[in-house]
Amino acid sequence: MVDTTIADAGPLAGTGIRIDGLSKTFSTGRGKSVTALQDTHLHTDKGSFLALLGPSGCGKSTILRILADLEDPTSGEIRVDGKTPHELRADSELGIAFQDHALLPWRSVAANIRLPFEVSGRRPDTAYIEELIELVGLTGFEKAKPATLSGGMRQRVSIARALALKPSVLLLDEPFGALDDMTRQNLNLELLRIWTEKPATTLLVTHGISEAIFLSDRVAVMSPRPGRIKEIIEVDLPRPRTPEMQRTPEFHALVDQASELLFGATGKAAAEA
Ligand code: ADP
Ligand code: MG
Repeated sequence: MVDTTIADAGPLAGTGIRIDGLSKTFSTGRGKSVTALQDTHLHTDKGSFLALLGPSGCGKSTILRILADLEDPTSGEIRVDGKTPHELRADSELGIAFQDHALLPWRSVAANIRLPFEVSGRRPDTAYIEELIELVGLTGFEKAKPATLSGGMRQRVSIARALALKPSVLLLDEPFGALDDMTRQNLNLELLRIWTEKPATTLLVTHGISEAIFLSDRVAVMSPRPGRIKEIIEVDLPRPRTPEMQRTPEFHALVDQASELLFGATGKAAAEA
Protein backbone atom coordinates (compact mmCIF):
# COMPACT_ATOMS: atom_id res chain seq x y z
CA MET A 1 0.00 0.00 0.00
CA VAL A 2 1.23 3.44 -0.87
CA ASP A 3 0.73 5.91 1.93
CA THR A 4 -0.52 9.13 0.37
CA THR A 5 -0.93 11.11 3.58
CA ILE A 6 2.48 12.72 3.27
CA ALA A 7 1.91 13.67 -0.37
CA ASP A 8 -1.47 15.09 0.53
CA ALA A 9 0.11 17.40 3.09
CA GLY A 10 2.64 18.68 0.51
CA PRO A 11 2.65 22.04 -1.24
CA LEU A 12 -0.32 21.09 -3.44
CA ALA A 13 -2.56 20.92 -0.39
CA GLY A 14 -2.21 24.67 0.32
CA THR A 15 -4.84 27.26 -0.57
CA GLY A 16 -4.75 29.43 -3.68
CA ILE A 17 -3.44 28.29 -7.04
CA ARG A 18 -0.68 25.66 -7.04
CA ILE A 19 0.73 24.80 -10.45
CA ASP A 20 3.82 22.60 -10.40
CA GLY A 21 5.85 21.21 -13.27
CA LEU A 22 3.07 21.84 -15.75
CA SER A 23 3.79 20.90 -19.35
CA LYS A 24 1.49 20.80 -22.32
CA THR A 25 2.31 19.45 -25.75
CA PHE A 26 -0.21 19.64 -28.58
CA SER A 27 0.12 17.22 -31.42
CA THR A 28 -0.38 19.05 -34.68
CA GLY A 29 -0.68 16.03 -36.96
CA ARG A 30 1.78 14.06 -39.10
CA GLY A 31 3.84 13.25 -36.01
CA LYS A 32 4.56 16.90 -35.30
CA SER A 33 3.89 18.63 -32.02
CA VAL A 34 4.03 22.02 -30.29
CA THR A 35 5.26 22.42 -26.73
CA ALA A 36 2.92 25.13 -25.46
CA LEU A 37 4.13 24.96 -21.86
CA GLN A 38 7.23 23.47 -20.34
CA ASP A 39 7.77 22.83 -16.64
CA THR A 40 5.70 25.77 -15.49
CA HIS A 41 5.41 26.62 -11.80
CA LEU A 42 2.97 29.16 -10.45
CA HIS A 43 1.70 29.72 -6.93
CA THR A 44 -0.73 32.40 -5.81
CA ASP A 45 -2.56 33.15 -2.59
CA LYS A 46 -6.25 32.59 -2.13
CA GLY A 47 -8.18 35.72 -3.03
CA SER A 48 -5.28 37.36 -4.85
CA PHE A 49 -5.29 38.91 -8.33
CA LEU A 50 -2.63 37.56 -10.67
CA ALA A 51 -1.98 38.57 -14.27
CA LEU A 52 -0.34 36.32 -16.86
CA LEU A 53 1.55 38.67 -19.14
CA GLY A 54 3.36 37.72 -22.29
CA PRO A 55 3.45 37.85 -26.08
CA SER A 56 0.98 35.99 -28.24
CA GLY A 57 1.62 32.24 -28.30
CA CYS A 58 3.50 31.95 -24.99
CA GLY A 59 0.90 29.67 -23.45
CA LYS A 60 -1.27 32.06 -21.38
CA SER A 61 -4.58 30.74 -22.64
CA THR A 62 -3.33 27.17 -22.34
CA ILE A 63 -2.74 27.68 -18.60
CA LEU A 64 -6.23 29.12 -18.22
CA ARG A 65 -7.84 26.38 -20.28
CA ILE A 66 -6.11 23.72 -18.18
CA LEU A 67 -7.27 25.43 -14.98
CA ALA A 68 -10.78 25.59 -16.44
CA ASP A 69 -10.69 21.84 -17.09
CA LEU A 70 -11.08 22.46 -20.83
CA GLU A 71 -7.70 20.92 -21.61
CA ASP A 72 -5.69 18.16 -19.93
CA PRO A 73 -2.06 18.77 -18.99
CA THR A 74 0.59 16.52 -20.55
CA SER A 75 2.30 16.43 -17.16
CA GLY A 76 2.35 18.34 -13.91
CA GLU A 77 0.10 19.03 -10.96
CA ILE A 78 -2.60 21.64 -10.60
CA ARG A 79 -4.66 22.37 -7.54
CA VAL A 80 -6.71 25.34 -6.44
CA ASP A 81 -7.51 25.26 -2.74
CA GLY A 82 -6.54 21.60 -2.88
CA LYS A 83 -8.94 20.73 -5.71
CA THR A 84 -8.16 19.55 -9.25
CA PRO A 85 -9.62 21.52 -12.18
CA HIS A 86 -12.13 18.73 -12.67
CA GLU A 87 -13.28 18.96 -9.05
CA LEU A 88 -13.46 22.74 -9.28
CA ARG A 89 -15.65 22.54 -12.34
CA ALA A 90 -17.89 19.88 -10.81
CA ASP A 91 -18.30 22.07 -7.71
CA SER A 92 -19.08 25.18 -9.81
CA GLU A 93 -16.08 26.96 -8.30
CA LEU A 94 -14.94 28.38 -11.66
CA GLY A 95 -16.09 31.64 -13.19
CA ILE A 96 -14.85 32.10 -16.73
CA ALA A 97 -14.94 35.09 -19.08
CA PHE A 98 -13.06 35.06 -22.36
CA GLN A 99 -12.49 37.68 -25.06
CA ASP A 100 -15.22 36.20 -27.16
CA HIS A 101 -18.16 36.89 -24.85
CA ALA A 102 -20.01 33.73 -26.01
CA LEU A 103 -23.40 35.06 -24.95
CA LEU A 104 -26.45 33.32 -26.34
CA PRO A 105 -27.86 35.81 -28.88
CA TRP A 106 -31.50 34.78 -28.45
CA ARG A 107 -31.40 35.25 -24.68
CA SER A 108 -31.80 38.51 -22.79
CA VAL A 109 -29.12 39.89 -20.46
CA ALA A 110 -30.86 38.40 -17.41
CA ALA A 111 -31.42 35.05 -19.14
CA ASN A 112 -27.75 34.85 -20.13
CA ILE A 113 -26.67 35.48 -16.54
CA ARG A 114 -29.18 32.85 -15.42
CA LEU A 115 -27.63 30.22 -17.69
CA PRO A 116 -25.00 28.85 -15.25
CA PHE A 117 -27.80 28.02 -12.79
CA GLU A 118 -29.62 26.04 -15.47
CA VAL A 119 -26.50 24.25 -16.69
CA SER A 120 -25.57 23.19 -13.15
CA GLY A 121 -29.15 22.20 -12.31
CA ARG A 122 -29.59 24.85 -9.62
CA ARG A 123 -32.62 26.99 -8.98
CA PRO A 124 -31.86 30.47 -10.35
CA ASP A 125 -31.27 32.99 -7.59
CA THR A 126 -33.27 35.85 -9.10
CA ALA A 127 -32.32 38.35 -6.41
CA TYR A 128 -28.62 37.60 -6.88
CA ILE A 129 -28.93 37.89 -10.67
CA GLU A 130 -30.47 41.33 -10.16
CA GLU A 131 -27.65 42.24 -7.79
CA LEU A 132 -25.07 41.19 -10.39
CA ILE A 133 -26.78 43.21 -13.12
CA GLU A 134 -26.56 46.23 -10.86
CA LEU A 135 -22.96 45.42 -9.93
CA VAL A 136 -21.87 45.47 -13.58
CA GLY A 137 -23.87 48.63 -14.30
CA LEU A 138 -26.56 47.16 -16.54
CA THR A 139 -29.69 48.02 -14.58
CA GLY A 140 -32.41 48.80 -17.13
CA PHE A 141 -30.95 46.41 -19.72
CA GLU A 142 -32.23 43.19 -18.14
CA LYS A 143 -34.43 42.36 -21.11
CA ALA A 144 -32.06 43.55 -23.84
CA LYS A 145 -30.61 41.05 -26.32
CA PRO A 146 -26.80 40.95 -26.77
CA ALA A 147 -27.00 42.27 -30.36
CA THR A 148 -28.48 45.56 -29.12
CA LEU A 149 -25.60 46.14 -26.65
CA SER A 150 -22.15 47.69 -27.17
CA GLY A 151 -19.05 45.47 -27.00
CA GLY A 152 -18.24 46.77 -23.53
CA MET A 153 -21.74 46.06 -22.27
CA ARG A 154 -21.57 42.50 -23.61
CA GLN A 155 -18.35 41.94 -21.68
CA ARG A 156 -20.10 43.26 -18.56
CA VAL A 157 -22.76 40.62 -19.09
CA SER A 158 -20.15 37.89 -19.46
CA ILE A 159 -18.46 38.99 -16.23
CA ALA A 160 -21.79 38.96 -14.40
CA ARG A 161 -22.44 35.49 -15.82
CA ALA A 162 -18.97 34.35 -14.67
CA LEU A 163 -19.88 35.48 -11.14
CA ALA A 164 -23.36 33.94 -11.10
CA LEU A 165 -22.51 30.84 -9.05
CA LYS A 166 -20.25 32.74 -6.61
CA PRO A 167 -17.06 31.07 -7.87
CA SER A 168 -13.94 31.04 -5.71
CA VAL A 169 -11.78 31.21 -8.86
CA LEU A 170 -12.22 33.74 -11.64
CA LEU A 171 -10.48 33.06 -14.97
CA LEU A 172 -10.38 36.01 -17.37
CA ASP A 173 -8.76 35.60 -20.80
CA GLU A 174 -8.29 39.06 -22.32
CA PRO A 175 -11.90 39.89 -21.50
CA PHE A 176 -11.57 43.44 -22.81
CA GLY A 177 -9.03 42.62 -25.54
CA ALA A 178 -11.31 43.48 -28.45
CA LEU A 179 -12.47 46.82 -27.04
CA ASP A 180 -11.15 50.31 -27.71
CA ASP A 181 -8.68 51.84 -25.24
CA MET A 182 -11.12 54.12 -23.43
CA THR A 183 -13.73 51.44 -22.90
CA ARG A 184 -11.02 49.08 -21.79
CA GLN A 185 -9.61 51.52 -19.20
CA ASN A 186 -13.08 52.10 -17.93
CA LEU A 187 -13.87 48.41 -17.64
CA ASN A 188 -10.58 47.74 -15.88
CA LEU A 189 -11.66 50.19 -13.17
CA GLU A 190 -15.02 48.48 -13.03
CA LEU A 191 -13.31 45.11 -12.77
CA LEU A 192 -11.32 46.32 -9.75
CA ARG A 193 -14.52 47.46 -8.05
CA ILE A 194 -16.28 44.19 -8.88
CA TRP A 195 -13.33 42.11 -7.65
CA THR A 196 -13.37 44.04 -4.35
CA GLU A 197 -17.08 43.40 -3.89
CA LYS A 198 -17.02 39.74 -4.98
CA PRO A 199 -13.58 38.50 -3.97
CA ALA A 200 -12.22 35.49 -5.84
CA THR A 201 -8.79 34.13 -6.66
CA THR A 202 -8.37 35.78 -10.04
CA LEU A 203 -6.17 34.95 -13.01
CA LEU A 204 -6.23 37.49 -15.82
CA VAL A 205 -4.57 36.86 -19.16
CA THR A 206 -3.42 40.01 -20.89
CA HIS A 207 -0.73 41.36 -23.18
CA GLY A 208 -1.18 44.87 -21.80
CA ILE A 209 1.74 45.74 -19.52
CA SER A 210 0.17 48.74 -17.73
CA GLU A 211 -3.12 46.95 -17.35
CA ALA A 212 -1.43 43.93 -15.75
CA ILE A 213 0.43 46.10 -13.23
CA PHE A 214 -2.55 48.34 -12.50
CA LEU A 215 -4.90 45.48 -11.64
CA SER A 216 -2.74 42.83 -10.03
CA ASP A 217 -1.07 41.80 -6.80
CA ARG A 218 1.46 39.85 -8.84
CA VAL A 219 2.33 39.69 -12.52
CA ALA A 220 3.73 36.48 -13.98
CA VAL A 221 5.80 37.46 -17.01
CA MET A 222 5.92 34.64 -19.55
CA SER A 223 8.27 33.90 -22.42
CA PRO A 224 7.46 31.85 -25.53
CA ARG A 225 8.80 28.74 -27.27
CA PRO A 226 8.44 26.85 -25.08
CA GLY A 227 6.09 28.81 -22.85
CA ARG A 228 7.23 29.27 -19.29
CA ILE A 229 7.02 31.73 -16.44
CA LYS A 230 10.06 33.91 -16.60
CA GLU A 231 9.61 35.98 -13.49
CA ILE A 232 7.00 37.08 -11.00
CA ILE A 233 6.70 40.80 -10.32
CA GLU A 234 5.25 41.69 -6.94
CA VAL A 235 3.07 44.76 -7.32
CA ASP A 236 3.19 46.52 -3.97
CA LEU A 237 1.00 49.48 -4.96
CA PRO A 238 -1.66 50.14 -2.32
CA ARG A 239 -5.34 49.31 -2.77
CA PRO A 240 -7.78 50.63 -3.67
CA ARG A 241 -5.98 51.43 -6.91
CA THR A 242 -6.86 54.73 -8.54
CA PRO A 243 -6.25 55.94 -12.12
CA GLU A 244 -3.86 58.60 -10.74
CA MET A 245 -1.53 55.85 -9.54
CA GLN A 246 -0.68 55.15 -13.16
CA ARG A 247 1.23 58.44 -13.21
CA THR A 248 3.44 57.72 -10.19
CA PRO A 249 7.17 56.86 -10.41
CA GLU A 250 6.45 53.58 -8.56
CA PHE A 251 4.00 52.53 -11.27
CA HIS A 252 6.38 53.47 -14.08
CA ALA A 253 9.22 51.56 -12.43
CA LEU A 254 7.07 48.40 -12.39
CA VAL A 255 6.07 48.91 -16.04
CA ASP A 256 9.76 49.34 -16.94
CA GLN A 257 10.64 46.16 -15.07
CA ALA A 258 7.97 44.19 -16.95
CA SER A 259 8.96 45.71 -20.32
CA GLU A 260 12.58 44.79 -19.77
CA LEU A 261 11.61 41.21 -18.93
CA LEU A 262 9.46 41.01 -22.04
CA PHE A 263 11.70 42.72 -24.53
CA GLY A 264 15.09 42.90 -22.78
CA ALA A 265 17.46 45.82 -23.02
CA THR A 266 18.71 44.47 -26.36
CA GLY A 267 15.87 42.12 -27.25
CA LYS A 268 18.22 39.28 -26.37
CA ALA A 269 16.67 38.42 -23.04
CA ALA A 270 13.51 37.06 -24.62
CA ALA A 271 15.47 34.65 -26.81
CA GLU A 272 17.46 33.33 -23.88
CA ALA A 273 14.44 32.58 -21.74
P1 ADP B 1 -1.38 32.70 -25.75
O1 ADP B 1 -2.70 32.63 -25.09
O2 ADP B 1 -0.26 33.11 -24.84
O3 ADP B 1 -1.39 33.54 -27.00
P2 ADP B 1 -1.81 29.88 -26.30
O4 ADP B 1 -1.84 29.27 -24.96
O5 ADP B 1 -3.10 30.10 -26.98
O6 ADP B 1 -0.96 31.23 -26.25
O7 ADP B 1 -0.90 28.97 -27.26
C1 ADP B 1 0.40 28.53 -26.90
C2 ADP B 1 0.99 27.71 -28.04
O8 ADP B 1 0.25 26.49 -28.16
C3 ADP B 1 0.92 28.38 -29.39
O9 ADP B 1 2.07 28.03 -30.12
C4 ADP B 1 -0.33 27.78 -30.02
O10 ADP B 1 -0.23 27.77 -31.42
C5 ADP B 1 -0.30 26.37 -29.43
N1 ADP B 1 -1.66 25.80 -29.31
C6 ADP B 1 -2.63 26.24 -28.46
N2 ADP B 1 -3.74 25.48 -28.56
C7 ADP B 1 -3.45 24.53 -29.49
C8 ADP B 1 -4.19 23.42 -30.05
N3 ADP B 1 -5.43 23.15 -29.64
N4 ADP B 1 -3.58 22.65 -30.98
C9 ADP B 1 -2.31 22.93 -31.38
N5 ADP B 1 -1.57 23.94 -30.90
C10 ADP B 1 -2.13 24.73 -29.97
MG1 MG C 1 -4.50 33.55 -25.61
